[in-house]
Amino acid sequence: MSRERLYLFDTTLRDGAQTNGVDFTLADKVVIARMLDALGVDYVEAGYPGANPIDSSFFAERRPARAKITAFGMTRRPGRSASNDPGLAAVLDAEADAVCFVAKSWDYHVRVALETTEDENLASIRDSVRAAKAKGREVLLDCEHFFDGYKANPAYALACAKAAYDEGARWVVLCDTNGGTLPHEVENIVGEVCKHIPGDHVGIHAHNDTEQAVANSFAAVRAGARQIQGTLNGLGERCGNANLISIIPTLKLKGEYAEKFDIGVSDAALGNIARVSHGLDDILNRAADRNAPYVGESAFATKAGIHASAIIKDPATYEHVAPEQIGNKRKLLVSDQSGRSNLLAELDRIDFAVDKDDPRLSRLLDEVKEREAIGYAYEAADASFELLARRLLGKVPRYFDVEKFDVTVEQRISAKGERITVSMAVVKVKVGEEVLISAAEGNGPVNALDLALRKDLGKYQSFITGLELTDYRVRILNGGSEAVTRVLIESEDETGDHWTTVGVSPNIIDASFQALMDSIVYKLIKSGAPA
Ligand SMILES: [Zn+2]
Repeated sequence: MSRERLYLFDTTLRDGAQTNGVDFTLADKVVIARMLDALGVDYVEAGYPGANPIDSSFFAERRPARAKITAFGMTRRPGRSASNDPGLAAVLDAEADAVCFVAKSWDYHVRVALETTEDENLASIRDSVRAAKAKGREVLLDCEHFFDGYKANPAYALACAKAAYDEGARWVVLCDTNGGTLPHEVENIVGEVCKHIPGDHVGIHAHNDTEQAVANSFAAVRAGARQIQGTLNGLGERCGNANLISIIPTLKLKGEYAEKFDIGVSDAALGNIARVSHGLDDILNRAADRNAPYVGESAFATKAGIHASAIIKDPATYEHVAPEQIGNKRKLLVSDQSGRSNLLAELDRIDFAVDKDDPRLSRLLDEVKEREAIGYAYEAADASFELLARRLLGKVPRYFDVEKFDVTVEQRISAKGERITVSMAVVKVKVGEEVLISAAEGNGPVNALDLALRKDLGKYQSFITGLELTDYRVRILNGGSEAVTRVLIESEDETGDHWTTVGVSPNIIDASFQALMDSIVYKLIKSGAPA
């Protein structure tokens, strides 16, 4: 049976750019557009030329891509002709393969927001589609508030969609702009629309305000729509857009969709999708969502002992898909609930060869339990766990010793009369016979300590130059004056690998120091630094 083509339209760079706290630079946009193109989406909506200087610069040159680079804009303003609307001209003049217009399709919005007549709105849709086609662009029409509009006045909502389709728009996209429509409603309404416009010209644009944007996208596909719009990691205004990072694996790996549809994403690209997701987080300088479906660090993590022993026998027992297919990893958590089987599986995962009857395993298990009782969290800190295992079961080279460190925090009034806080750290390190003293200033004591520690490790310096701290999390474990602090540090290196280390102490600097040290030693081992 031949499969039907289903198209993916990414709007990370347009709707995703509306996210609170997200500000893409031109360079960011170029990198993300390339990532999306390599992933295999069919359309990359790159912005709103004319309305935003960065978007205008993006479209100032033709950017060759397999995907259709799409410019976004509004249909011509009411009461103007298409040839006399500067906003429309900027969109039409942009170096793009396709143009996506947004238009009102809810009669109430036409009257109240647009302050025009229903007929003039329809004429604006027709004129704009015609003008873009005359420019040789493929045309899409986003019908704003389509579902709310359809509930209020189905004939008019449909008339807006039909106007674009009849004028030759390739796609009519039904938007759940408020994100409040439920899956069964989407399925019914898209089904009705597909009686008038062929489904292979109908798209869905869902927002996540009831956490159902992905479900709504699939509901539309079941009803006949053949284009899904969404964003990487579900980026977008308010609660976000439909998350393509979740939609793509479902389309590729779930029989109901995989047997019925072809999409532009290859199996190899699917195997890289976790990297794409984390790559976007890196650009946004955000920590990746551990619990993200398919690509999150915890998406294939198992804690309880019985599950772990079954997973070792056959992963399919507790996994709905194989993590490798989306570039993720299986992870068996070492925790105070864990038994020997978890421990063995985790050692196996980090390629640590040990006999399963080795008596030192019990010692390691006891050590993990003891440390977790005082606050260490090894399930979250894979690299610290690996170091602990290596220390007990094998060996970790003594690369260097920190003989002492000193951290100061000084608050004073600056020359400008402002109150400022400055932190400084001095570290004395012994590498072989060499004693090195480094000092650094930082925006806080931990930052200063980190900078001083990594400033000069003598002969090992070249092995840690690519090391970067990407996240720092502090948790106070029990209140009061006896409080214990747990610090988790996430690091990354030049190969794109991430790891997490942990430190625990009543003193936050000391806890941070332990986690920093683990990260550096882990990186030295990983880089194959000679002992
Ligand atoms: Zn939207």
